[in-house]
Amino acid sequence: MTMAAYAPAGAVRAAADAADRAGSSVSFDQVSVAYRGVVVMKPLTLNVEAGEILALIGPSGSGKTTALRAVAGFVRPASGRIRIGDTDVTDLPPYERGLAMVVQNYALFPHMRVDQNVAFGLNAQKAPKALTAERVEESLRIVGMSAYAKRYPRELSGGQQQRVAIARALAVRPRVLLLDEPLSALDAQIRRSMVEELAKLHRTLPHLTVLYVTHDQSEALTLADKIAIMKDGMLNAHGPTAELYRRPPNRFAAEFLGRANILPARVEDNGSASGFAKVAVGADSVLALPSSLPNGGGCLLCVRPQHLALQPDGNDVNVIAGTLRDVHWQGELTHLVLDVADTIVRVVVTRPPDLPPAGSRMKLHFSPSDASLIPADAHV
Ligand code: ADP
Repeated sequence: MTMAAYAPAGAVRAAADAADRAGSSVSFDQVSVAYRGVVVMKPLTLNVEAGEILALIGPSGSGKTTALRAVAGFVRPASGRIRIGDTDVTDLPPYERGLAMVVQNYALFPHMRVDQNVAFGLNAQKAPKALTAERVEESLRIVGMSAYAKRYPRELSGGQQQRVAIARALAVRPRVLLLDEPLSALDAQIRRSMVEELAKLHRTLPHLTVLYVTHDQSEALTLADKIAIMKDGMLNAHGPTAELYRRPPNRFAAEFLGRANILPARVEDNGSASGFAKVAVGADSVLALPSSLPNGGGCLLCVRPQHLALQPDGNDVNVIAGTLRDVHWQGELTHLVLDVADTIVRVVVTRPPDLPPAGSRMKLHFSPSDASLIPADAHV
């Protein structure tokens, strides 16, 4: 998949740079996908800005890959339109969309050396030799694999193979890079360093739009400008990464993005006038980030474990009192079972103090800006 026409290298670069700036946004407009009559992606409307890294996350089977394949042109939407920049690509074949895709299992040609693999897309399009050589060299440099140009894939580690796969994708100068679980075949340590390298790569190519499918929320939180959470073939939440983590719109999003303590609460003042919301949790009244939820209604209070401090006694500002019922130590995290106003609340904390015996009263403290409100009925 690449640009169809070739011109002298400088002109190609200028044209590609212009296209990158003007034409690399991706928009889904009511796009649905069915496999043999079964709808697996319900009408999806989503805009990815030019130069943005969007992470598509969600449980297995939620439709992430399907969304990506629809952009790539490997599946035809049952309804809706897909645009890249100003172009409606819905009816275009994959190779005319200006995209490149990297999948989980490297997919390098085993009988070709690294440089031949990287040159493959350009050779397939009969690009001039000098241009191909220049692009191969540049792409390998970007992914830090210049020294391995003459090796065969079998002579590389998994992480190195995946770098070559990314170089091969970049060599065709895509407007949009589609990454489908590109790191999930690698072990955890290499995955972490590859995430950093992908972030660096995007700094090198800031106009490149990246759609990144992963089931690993930490990859998404590290890399993405925005996150789209899929659930059951539908968009469950979408927003800037930090904002979505800090103020998830629903319980599923809160729990999918990381550990979350979710406590039943009641809105006393939604804070739209005062700046902070006031909610009742059991007999306690605490402040949280403002919300648009109606005053007087039920809601859920969401606080991340690292923002919760346990206080056996002392500070009474923004605290919820409960009775300690049980403690489960799990290495980095400790799970506490507390009774807060007749509700069993499971709380996860990172650094517990010396815990008193079961049956003792405990206080949970958090800063109002680290607590958000979620609709009580949002089991979506
Ligand atoms: P994810 O990437 O989130 O794991 P997918 O997009 O791969 O999810 O799959 C979404 C749904 O579509 C799943 O229920 C899956 O079984 C189904 N599906 C995916 N590909 C096909 C196919 N080629 N034929 C039939 N069903 C498919």
